[in-house]
Amino acid sequence: MKFVAFSALALATSVSAFSPTAFAPRTSTSLSARKPFIAGNWKMNPGTKDEAVALGKEIAGAFSSSTPCEVALFAPYPFLDATVDAVGSSGVKVGAEMAFTEGKGAYTAEVSVSMIKSVGCNWALAGHSERRTLFGESDEDINKQVLNLLNNDVGCILCIGETQAEYEQGLVGPICTTQLKKNLLGVTPEQMANVVIAYEPVWAIGTGLTCPASEAQDVHATCRSVLADMYGQTVSDTVRIQYGGSVTPETVDELMAKPDIDGALVGGASLVAEKFSRIINFEEAKVSA
Ligand code: PEP
Repeated sequence: MKFVAFSALALATSVSAFSPTAFAPRTSTSLSARKPFIAGNWKMNPGTKDEAVALGKEIAGAFSSSTPCEVALFAPYPFLDATVDAVGSSGVKVGAEMAFTEGKGAYTAEVSVSMIKSVGCNWALAGHSERRTLFGESDEDINKQVLNLLNNDVGCILCIGETQAEYEQGLVGPICTTQLKKNLLGVTPEQMANVVIAYEPVWAIGTGLTCPASEAQDVHATCRSVLADMYGQTVSDTVRIQYGGSVTPETVDELMAKPDIDGALVGGASLVAEKFSRIINFEEAKVSA
């Protein structure tokens, strides 16, 4: 549990009990704890519904009252319904990997927020680097997706992060700052209670290269200070910032020990139940790093 100084203003109290934040930051008048949040992004995997169900069941079986974080699985659209059933009442959430910005109509192949909600999903990703680079989604597109999710009471994991070239040019801070400002344009301080940021250096996604924990911590601290400029320190202190990029059972404990790393977005390792089970049951640091 990450504790931060918190004023008497309890933003989360304005959020409906039916919203995704029913699980999110716990608040009191003097302290706010950011409950860690680890999510699996299955991408275009596994190959069949039966495999998705088996994976969902195994992961749900590893989630217990001693698991130190919230857990969500982001599954392909055709498997959402079955994955919701597979995790049952375990407490594991299921979300969509994206939701289109329009409510309904002539948008062949797109999937709306009401569709994902109707199968029990109250979370979605936005801005994953594969959507940005392979499918040409712009910061403006992503901003529309974020607003559409939040305006429909669906929680959003907003993915940001620099490419390898940007990393090599020392542009990590400016890139993350720009993405946060453009992608969150128009999001209100109250709506930030339903937003999780995933800092995912693009060069670390699916490559086996993990950003060193201390470097990731520095970027997370920068992101939090950008959020403080945008929304004030109180809101910034409650927003969970996940790290994403080749997280494994071997790297998760060190990452999670960092004060501004509040969880992980996990691709490859979330497809192997044994690995993801160890990741969600990470070892909590005895002393905050
Ligand atoms: C991701 O897809 O968001 C991701 C972090 O993938 P991986 O863990 O495989 O790097």
